[in-house]
Amino acid sequence: MELKLKREHWNIMRTQVQTHAPHEACGLLAGKNNRVEKVLLIENQAKSQAKFRMDPREQLEAFNWIDSNGLDLVGIFHSHPAGPETVSATDIEEAAYAATQIIWSRTKGNWIARGFWIENKLVSEVRLEVMDGEQP
Ligand SMILES: [Zn+2]
Repeated sequence: MELKLKREHWNIMRTQVQTHAPHEACGLLAGKNNRVEKVLLIENQAKSQAKFRMDPREQLEAFNWIDSNGLDLVGIFHSHPAGPETVSATDIEEAAYAATQIIWSRTKGNWIARGFWIENKLVSEVRLEVMDGEQP
């Protein structure tokens, strides 16, 4: 499995997670057929270093935007500013959408992102392909 995104999408997410650290940051990715078309940033209402809860009003507006533009929810991202670089037990427990989960984590000041698919509490890795050909 893979999710294709543009460098621009990558940079928007990285800026968001960097700006909100040490708190977790989050957002939604809209697109079609495993291809991201738009990053929708959502406030982390929990304002926490260890969890996120999407602002419900912003989340609803984002879902409405996705619907009215004929797109699908293809990804959900959030950050782990202090690790781990994979989904946590809570992330697995709370996974509610058929969408790639992108985890941004920071090691020695460098942000990395990894994609995961969670289904029936089973986790598999989703390759994130940045379409300008550079490695993420
Ligand atoms: Zn998490």
